[in-house]
Amino acid sequence: MSTVPRIVILGAGYGGVLTALRLQKELGYNEANVTLVNKHDYHYITTHLHMPAAGTDDPENARIHIAKLIDEFKIDFVKSTVVQIKPNEKKVILEDGTLSFDYLVIGLGGEAETFGIPGLQQYALNIRSINSVRLIREHIEYQFAKFKREPHRKDYLTFIVGGAGFTGIEFVGELADRIPKLCKQFDVDPKLVGIVNIEAAPTALPGFDPELVEYAMRVLTDKGVTFKIGTAIKECTPGGVQLATGETIKSTTIVWTGGIRGNRLVEQAGFEAMRGRVKVDPYLRTTQHENVYVVGDCSLVMNEQGKPYPPTAQLAMQQGIACARNLVATIRGEPLREFKYDHKGVVASLGKGEAIGIVYGKKMTGRKAAMMKKLIDLRYLFMIGGIPLVLRKGKF
Ligand code: FAD
Ligand code: NAD
Repeated sequence: MSTVPRIVILGAGYGGVLTALRLQKELGYNEANVTLVNKHDYHYITTHLHMPAAGTDDPENARIHIAKLIDEFKIDFVKSTVVQIKPNEKKVILEDGTLSFDYLVIGLGGEAETFGIPGLQQYALNIRSINSVRLIREHIEYQFAKFKREPHRKDYLTFIVGGAGFTGIEFVGELADRIPKLCKQFDVDPKLVGIVNIEAAPTALPGFDPELVEYAMRVLTDKGVTFKIGTAIKECTPGGVQLATGETIKSTTIVWTGGIRGNRLVEQAGFEAMRGRVKVDPYLRTTQHENVYVVGDCSLVMNEQGKPYPPTAQLAMQQGIACARNLVATIRGEPLREFKYDHKGVVASLGKGEAIGIVYGKKMTGRKAAMMKKLIDLRYLFMIGGIPLVLRKGKF
């Protein structure tokens, strides 16, 4: 029997891919057997998904085949869906088999948080994966096509976006850019189309810099987005949404961007979790199992004030790197290093050529912020795939 430790990584998102790539680089020959499991044979750039969802970019541009990222002589890739994690038995159950591990990295990402709002699960669409955004894009086009047959159905042309966090804001920015093109393509009067972004909190982008929030809302309003702020969605039906104010909006398209939670599999595995996010120790391990690490949207890392860091790609990537370093140290019997998050800032797109951001404490808007967003995207491509990937997938 082999004595080489078996490391299994679940999920090839930002956290999982960075863990795998770092292990591939750091581990020597025969130091460990590393297996990466993902339900698709591609990694997707989640941070781009608002564009293919709105139809302003091809979903293909957000997808990178895992075989092009990893060295399959060093990492075994298994395309399968995880159905159960059994930490006590050191096993992972896949839809088509079982994997045993000595060390496990959970990077299964998040899912839409519906807060138990009736009808959301059934009738709303989510921006979560290549398949889910393809559905949104096709659905939007179909509403235009249907309107041509039933021109009295104004609800076909009302697009509701629930939640004005960063995902909602980035999506309405893209959708507002797409609408004029769809109107032209389907010969529809743009005045008949509505994009309504509904936010429960007293402001869009709650907690973000108020001056930048105001800028974003101005840009988006000028592009034709209507905001309903301080207004919670109470119910979702096949015909629209019911708001807490008592108002009903008729629409056949509801895109829910009202928040995310960690993957349900981590709760089902018995890890102590808050909304599917596992509180990890300073080394990114679960408190119950020292051999199980959690990275990305499934993990909960507290800041100095004891509040959780928002789940972002930036955090997931840094965790992936730190997790790989600690796994290598464990295998070599060296001391582990505490994870320290280095927050570089936030940049959010508002559609073509427009963005807002704070980078290293410096506020930026407009073209400058949009350029910064491109640079951040290129840096990510470089980190995971070097110059060849930048040239293949990068946008300049
Ligand atoms: P993910 O990237 O979600 O990856 C999870 C992986 O696990 C996926 O490959 C999935 O297919 C796989 N998986 C899931 N379940 C299973 C299963 N049962 N079996 C096998 N595989 C499975 N953050 C930023 O920092 N900057 C941004 O600009 C930014 N923009 C964003 C824009 C949008 C539109 C969205 C939706 C999010 C954005 N975020 C951004 C947040 C960021 O994308 C997430 O925090 C990040 O993707 C989390 O990475 P992760 O590795 O935890 O999970
Ligand atoms: P979020 O939790 O940040 O925002 C969800 C929004 O929906 C909140 O403002 C909330 O008040 C609102 N909401 C909740 N229930 C509602 C209801 N019933 N009716 C109306 N509004 C409701 O979620 P998100 O925007 O998907 O972001 C998820 C994570 O991804 C965050 O950490 C975010 O920072 C990150 N992200 C970052 C970027 C970026 O940096 N450019 C882009 C997208 C997402």
